[in-house]
Parts: sequence; C-alpha cells; structure tokens
Amino acid sequence: MNCNKPVILQKDIEVPRYVQAAAEMLMHSGYEAYIIGGAVRDSLIGKTPSDWDIASSATPEDVKKVFEEDCIPTGKRFGTSTVLIKGEKVEVTTFRMESAYSDGRRPDSVTFSKTLRDDVARRDFTINALAYDIRQNGVIDYFGGLQDLEDGIIRTVGDPEDRFSEDSLRMLRAIRFAVELGFEISPDTLRGIEKLHASIQRISHERIQEELSRMLLSAMPGKAFRYVYETGLMDYILPELSDCAGVPAYDGSPDDVLEHSIKACENIEARLDLRLAALLHDIGKPVTMSQDGTGRIRYFNHENVGSELAKAALERLRYPKATVDKVTTLIKWHMFSYEPSTKDKGIRRLVNSLGLETIYDLAKVKQADRAALGLDPGPGEKMEAFLKRVEEVLSRGPAFTETDLAVDGRDVMRILGIPEGPEVGRALAELLDMVLEEPDLNSREKLLAILKTMSGQKKP
Ligand code: ATP
Ligand code: MG
Repeated sequence: MNCNKPVILQKDIEVPRYVQAAAEMLMHSGYEAYIIGGAVRDSLIGKTPSDWDIASSATPEDVKKVFEEDCIPTGKRFGTSTVLIKGEKVEVTTFRMESAYSDGRRPDSVTFSKTLRDDVARRDFTINALAYDIRQNGVIDYFGGLQDLEDGIIRTVGDPEDRFSEDSLRMLRAIRFAVELGFEISPDTLRGIEKLHASIQRISHERIQEELSRMLLSAMPGKAFRYVYETGLMDYILPELSDCAGVPAYDGSPDDVLEHSIKACENIEARLDLRLAALLHDIGKPVTMSQDGTGRIRYFNHENVGSELAKAALERLRYPKATVDKVTTLIKWHMFSYEPSTKDKGIRRLVNSLGLETIYDLAKVKQADRAALGLDPGPGEKMEAFLKRVEEVLSRGPAFTETDLAVDGRDVMRILGIPEGPEVGRALAELLDMVLEEPDLNSREKLLAILKTMSGQKKP
C-alpha cells in the first residue's frame, strides 16, 4: 500500500456543534484541523464517542491566538490545548512526529509536524489513525484502518515490535481495544506482544491498573485474560494468576484454576469489585494444594491465603483501599457455608460485621463460581437459604451495633458506678448481645432497668 496517498471514504459523521465550531475556527484562520482517533473510530462503528479530539497544524501558540481566553494549555509540552466552546471541552493537539523513546514509556522529546500523515503515523493502531475532514465529509485513512475496522482487527501502525518497543503500554491497549470492540488482534501484532511482553515492567502500576480495569469492565473480560495469559503479560501483571495455570480447579476438574477463574469472571456482572473478586477468588489454591490420606486433592484455608495474596496484588496495582477491602472480604468469605442451626443473634452479628450489601455481593460471587463449574444457575441452595434467613431475621428487627443501643457509655458509668475503661465496653457488649437476641429490648427504659439489675448483681 502506498501510505503517502490516503484512502478517502465519503461519509457523513455526526459531529457535535461545538466540535465543528472549534475545527471551523482553526480552518478559518488558515490551519488544517481534523477530528482524530477514538471519535472517528467509534462513530464509524455506531458507538457514541466518549470524547472528541482535534488534530491540527496549528501550534499551541497558534491555538492560543485563535481561541484566546477560551484556550487552556493542558499539555503544552505535548502540544495539547483544551478549548472551551459554549462550556464544552475539545482537545486540540498539534500534529506531531514520533520521536525516540529511550524508556519505553514516553518520547524523549516532542517534535511538531506540518502534516497529518506524520501525525497518524505515530498513533498506535490503524483503527485509531483515522482522521475526519468536516468540510469534505471524508474519512482519511493512511494505514488501512477502514479495512481493519470492517474486519474487526487490531493492528499496529507500522512494525509491531518497533511500536511496542517505543511504548510498552500499547501491548495492553491492543488487548483492551480488542475486548472493548469485540475485535481480534492481528497475528503479527500478537507476535509482537508475545516477543516484547517482559517490557511491560517499564510501565507504571497505575497505568497498568487503568487498562486492566477497562478489560475487566468490557463485555469480554474472559477473552482479555486469555490474551493476557497467552502473550506472557500475566507473568508480570498478575503473577499470582499465572501460578494458577496447570493447577486443577478441584480434584478431577477438567479446568485448571486459571481457566476456572476466568470463567467465573465472565459470569458476574460488570462491576469492578465483583469482577476482581471472581477473577482472584481461588488464587490461594496453588500454594495450599495438598493431598489428604485418601489421595484426594484439598486446598485447606485457600480462601484466607487467597485473600492475603489478593490484597498484595491489588495494593501493588494501586487499587484504592475501598476496592481492596471489598474484594479481599469477598474472597475471604467465598467458602462461607450457612448452618441453619445458627441463632438469630449469630445472623445479626454476621450482618453487622459484613454489611448487607457485601452479603448480597457474596451471593453473586458464589453464583459466578458455580456457573464456572457448570452447575445450575443461582447462588446454591445453602446460600439461598441463608439469604432468606437474613431477610427473615432482619424483618423482626434491624442488626444493631453498639452505637444503635438506646443507652450509652455514660449511662453505664453512672448506673454501675464505674469509671471510664474497658469494663464500660464489656457492659455495652453484654447489652448488645441481649438486644441482638431480642430486638424489643432496645428501649431506654428497658436497658436502664437491665443495667440496674447488673449493678445490683455486682454489689454484694
Ligand atoms: P478511548 O478514549 O475509548 O480509550 P481513544 O482511541 O480515544 O479511545 P485515547 O487513549 O483517548 O484513546 O487516545 C486518543 C488517541 O491518541 C488514540 O485514538 C490514538 O490515536 C492516540 N494514542 C493514545 N495513546 C497512544 C499510545 N500509547 N501510542 C500511540 N498513540 C496513542
Ligand atoms: Mg479518548
């Protein structure tokens, strides 16, 4: 293909008014301006673009002159300005050329260019290298992006190894775009990732996390993690999950723990904490695997070991504390088994310590685990019975905590005649215990009466 002569496809793309206005203003001042990247790609496949970017021959100084106070130089070093049109933001980026990347993360310097051709040549994938000319209603394609978009192919612009050596994050972006769009990665591009996978270590954990999260939230998280494993990237991103390959999911299982985990992740709703919990729920199995006296394979305590391993992995990937806490709790409890003989008090305590929301999420994780094992849909009989019991117990009175008690520490000190200290806490815990058993007791009058009898018992 002669890449100096682009293919031009006549096409009406619906460009928002404010984006058109920004491009028109640049062109009116004598500069070239095109809609570029994701917005063109998404418009052509009928997806609503998340943001609109303009590539222009105007330098950041030129852009400033055109838009005056409506121009904020957001990434001046990289040639990016944010332009405000009637309160809406458009990013205008000066045509750039690819320059040397000595660290595999970011270019050593940025060189502006005069031509659109140079600018699209430095973009990552052919489908992201399409430009739209709003005056001609034409999609400009230098690198076969239109064909790849039609065929559903992720392919680097130029030689995959060169492009992945420049910027290692592109390897994860290739997989992420493939699963977000439901595309395949071209064999050459895939080989490039296989060859250079170890260089992903140069990328910061934060940026890896961002790509991983988008893969997890895509329609095809399973496909994403199969790509991540097969290319070797997983050894550097989630080695804990790589270790699950070849370890049977249970004694006699046709799936290994890795495949089982991926299937679980495919069988849970698209919420980040739930998908992470499903993906990591069994990562404690490889280290805890043992054989019992009869030769059966067991994974004693794998939920607790797995929860610890997940904590380390998620913290390493810089997930926020709330996500880490939620995911590790779900993993820790994923083997929970309801005992119908549990007293109401025990049920209320459990609701107190886990929270109702986490209990329902736990049912979702169990359901995903079961679906991955090929069992019938639903969270399982025991979990269903547990959820029913929780509802029933809570319908008779809420799950109190100490702060919900109708009396407080001051009442305890006054009536028992004791100073501040651990004994106050013990008395409150005793009262809570009674209230959990019998919610009706939680009135000020009744609890004060109980405290008085306690005080009577204490005094000889
Ligand atoms: P989305 O916003 O849905 O992730 P996008 O294509 O808009 O998709 P961005 O990350 O917003 O992706 O980047 C905008 C454009 O910038 C891309 O379409 C691509 O042309 C270019 N680009 C972004 N990151 C890179 C990179 N690491 N290497 C080369 N080009 C890139
Ligand atoms: Mg974008």
